[in-house]
Amino acid sequence: MPEGPEVESVRQELLPLIKNRVKQIQLTPLSQKYPKYQNKQPSFDPFRKTILRDIYRYGKFLVWSFEGTKNVILNHLGMSGKWCFCEDLTTSQSDVTHPKVIIQMENPPHIIFSDTRNFGQFKVFKSYDEVMKYPPIKSLGIDGLEIPFPLVEFISRINHKRYEDKIIGELLLNQRLVAGVGNIYKAESLFQAKINPLRKVKTLSKKELEHLGIAISEVMQKALKDLGSSFDSLYTLPSGEAGNAQLWHNVYGRKGKQCNICGSEIEKITQKDRSTFFCSKCQQ
Ligand SMILES: [Zn+2]
Repeated sequence: MPEGPEVESVRQELLPLIKNRVKQIQLTPLSQKYPKYQNKQPSFDPFRKTILRDIYRYGKFLVWSFEGTKNVILNHLGMSGKWCFCEDLTTSQSDVTHPKVIIQMENPPHIIFSDTRNFGQFKVFKSYDEVMKYPPIKSLGIDGLEIPFPLVEFISRINHKRYEDKIIGELLLNQRLVAGVGNIYKAESLFQAKINPLRKVKTLSKKELEHLGIAISEVMQKALKDLGSSFDSLYTLPSGEAGNAQLWHNVYGRKGKQCNICGSEIEKITQKDRSTFFCSKCQQ
């Protein structure tokens, strides 16, 4: 699933579209096979002939705003959502595997939202205020990509009584704590901080929490610099390029391989239905 660094990489590649005029936003015929898109066409009328003003990122969400309408679009890539540039809608649309939404610009490239597994979101809200009140946005914690990373706030948040009995490998996925962290960068951050994912928060010292906060920030920034992690075609940039962050992963996706530090086998366990990769020797 695209995490903060992947979503931010996509956003940055979409930014040159800003100030361009939108001809129309349309759902594809394929989208009509899925209940969440059915009969949603009229809600895209306000975006006709508007100008794309900006695209903001909140955790793993993108919010699209326009000149000419107060309506905004909330977009989540889900498991497999991706944006694809398309120069010519009549010929190159077939290159996109699961097109759900098309934003037709007055001047190409147009952009197509493809979503193979169909967990993505593309929702219209009446105003920016309204989308900011939407619970999954309103409840987001500090952003893992914030510079400088708010280390003091991270430690104060994680030390809240409600988290003391939580397992750190599970808690780090909670977007109320650090937004944008998902399964990949959770595992990599815990490895860098030398913390076992099975430990309870209350057993972590202040020094360990500091190391963890620094690790989250460093791992996410490094991933952003490498345009995110691409394991397959499910995450690519709008240009079709893949990210390179998977090339330096120490634990994620490396079950049974040798730890780069100590040579032990990397282990894979399941925590709340999500896989966690770690080295039990380096991460005590
Ligand atoms: Zn190791």
